Amino acid sequence: MAAVQLSGIFKRYGDTQVVHGIDLHIDDGEFVVLVGPSGCGKSTLMRMVAGLEEISGGDLMIGGTRANGLAPQQRNISMVFQSYALYPHLSVYDNIAFGPRIRKEPSASFKPRIEAAAKMLNLSGYLDRLPRALSGGQRQRVAMGRAVVREPSLFLFDEPLSNLDAKLRVQMRTEIKALHQRLKNTVIYVTHDQIEAMTMADRIVVMNAGRIEQIGRPLELYDHPANLFVASFLGSPSMNFAAGVLVNRAQGAGLALKLGDGGEIVLEGAPASATAGAKVTLGVRPEHIETAAETPDASMEVEVVEPTGAETHLYGKIGGSTWCVTTRQRSKVEPGQRVTLRLPAEHIHLFDTESGHRLV
Ligand code: ADP
Repeated sequence: MAAVQLSGIFKRYGDTQVVHGIDLHIDDGEFVVLVGPSGCGKSTLMRMVAGLEEISGGDLMIGGTRANGLAPQQRNISMVFQSYALYPHLSVYDNIAFGPRIRKEPSASFKPRIEAAAKMLNLSGYLDRLPRALSGGQRQRVAMGRAVVREPSLFLFDEPLSNLDAKLRVQMRTEIKALHQRLKNTVIYVTHDQIEAMTMADRIVVMNAGRIEQIGRPLELYDHPANLFVASFLGSPSMNFAAGVLVNRAQGAGLALKLGDGGEIVLEGAPASATAGAKVTLGVRPEHIETAAETPDASMEVEVVEPTGAETHLYGKIGGSTWCVTTRQRSKVEPGQRVTLRLPAEHIHLFDTESGHRLV
């Protein structure tokens, strides 16, 4: 088991800096997910922790030891990649036993560990098979079995589920989480998939362009995104946005947001720093908008109606941007109809349009 501490970590390739001073503490036993769009530097960061990529600057501590100069095999880490990297000519058992054999462990010592790992990963009946006779999910489990038998202090996962079909991905997500709950090891998990991050992480680290945008528990980030980037990155369908200028409503009735196209959204409440004249972007999640409001804050002409079974998504335009409104009821609304909307004060997010920072 190991805590991991990154202090001012950066990475340069020649003249190009791709990771810009990352500070991050990961507790012993914590499951931390690095998430962000492709190219934001998450794999590079993880590969520096693994020792597969040189650290250009800063300090990496693993289990209280400075690890910057340690070779990968000295770091007591197991890594699971997107490509399972199994040996095609070796059986499942021999694939899992490969590491211990290389380290010249006696088989009496590793055999019980392999059997325990196979049982935990539902592979007991497949130990004699070759990888090609396994499904994608089973192969991924063999890769995990190989990682588990090392009994590492730190597990690194780099997009391990990207090659699996949607249904299997959901299943493996649960399996990896259950595995972590049993083993209670420290995990750093890289993905570009915000749903994976939300469902698996103890804490999420949202990255963008080589920097950390926000760190927090999944629902903390979902409910209180620190900026427009995090607000738009987490959630599916994503948060709705409308940019405009704050104006005072008549007769001291609070604030409204005057939109670029002349429309207006009434604000039922606003943080103290929101004052008339400020250029702000309002954000509200699809599931927090109430339809058929008696005292509406906004209205929208519905262009598309999408029933998913459990809920219905209504799409239309507000202030020139496409908005989605999710209702749990079966909607009788037809395209072309106008719906009135209520945006409850407790679910409204306001951001400074220029800096992108949340108003508090
Ligand atoms: P992510 O994992 O978030 O998709 P990466 O960590 O793979 O992003 O890459 C971060 C940035 O570093 C990208 O802009 C990528 O082009 C650049 N990069 C990665 N590897 C190299 C390399 N060997 N040489 C130059 N640039 C690289």
